[in-house]
Amino acid sequence: MKLKLDKKNFEDFLKSLMEEYDLYAPVQPVEGVSVFKKIEQPSEVNLTQLVPQKPAKDIFFPQSEVMFCYEMAGKQSRMNSMEEIKRERILFGARPCDIEAISIIEKIFVGEEYTDVYFLEKRRKTTIIGLGCNHPLSTCFCSSAGGDPFLRAGSDLFFIDLGETYFVELLTEKGAALRKNRFFKEVDPNDLTLVKELEGKAFEKVGYSIPVEGIEKRLDLMTESSFWDRVHEKCIGCAVCTYLCPTCHCFDMVDEALNNKGQRVRNWDSCLFPIYSLETSGHNPRPTGRERTRQRLMHKFNYFPKNFGRVACVGCGRCILYCPVQFDIREALLYASAKRAKGLKRKFR
Ligand code: SF4
Ligand code: SF4
Repeated sequence: MKLKLDKKNFEDFLKSLMEEYDLYAPVQPVEGVSVFKKIEQPSEVNLTQLVPQKPAKDIFFPQSEVMFCYEMAGKQSRMNSMEEIKRERILFGARPCDIEAISIIEKIFVGEEYTDVYFLEKRRKTTIIGLGCNHPLSTCFCSSAGGDPFLRAGSDLFFIDLGETYFVELLTEKGAALRKNRFFKEVDPNDLTLVKELEGKAFEKVGYSIPVEGIEKRLDLMTESSFWDRVHEKCIGCAVCTYLCPTCHCFDMVDEALNNKGQRVRNWDSCLFPIYSLETSGHNPRPTGRERTRQRLMHKFNYFPKNFGRVACVGCGRCILYCPVQFDIREALLYASAKRAKGLKRKFR
């Protein structure tokens, strides 16, 4: 079903969503970092940043999350398990790459043999409203990673900015639940023409083409390649690229306890940290940046496609935008591609 929303009613529309749902959306930077967060006032919503630094995965798999609390009373222990989410939630304004990434991490957290209840509870109770990208950034390469700036997959509703209005597409049952919102109006044929034009133009702008298809086979032949000696050289191991990556999903669990009370917390972790793979014997199978960078790229472009049938990268470009030493994953991928490696050799000499 196709509808539209006048921008002059935008804040009232958000207010109407907040009557029934907890609303999450991108906001102005908090302590210098742009994030998705729970909205208290519609005016907080800020759609100007295409890829907020912290991806939308934070809404389903938070950077730090209390799993349960416990208390010892003599030899007995009492445990408060995960808090139930009482209100349905809406994630508004996530871009197609971030939404695709949520589907990717869902493959990890909701498997046939195991289910991560923390992720699942949030995912089930969230309606996703995606927003198309009219002006992709020079660092975006979603179309190489199986996506596109207007990919609807994973969204329950999809918005496209048409200037004075938003074009709105209801895509799923969850999305259809909002069809009677008083601010939606009927769409007219001109809007549909405009949508088509925008889609074509945005596609042209994601010009960077990476030969990702079949990359897992090429990487199979590169486990001991000298490529890894060069590719990691400028990386300082800060792990920003993995923390901000919408598909990275490693975490560590710690017990924080004082006297007879405590809580178990899980925190994002990164394979780029030296102690990530340090064993209790003192042996570290990934002792240098060479092995750690190889792990980062192999996991995304070799192990993940073998296990789940697609690369664990959506081409959002965050790891390029925010890397302090301008490590560009696209160059590494081009280099790994036998066909295109030639012109880029100098980068990793
Ligand atoms: S952000 Fe850049 S420097 Fe930091 S770990 Fe990633 S590649 Fe290395
Ligand atoms: S590897 Fe980089 S470009 Fe790919 S999804 Fe992660 S942050 Fe985005």
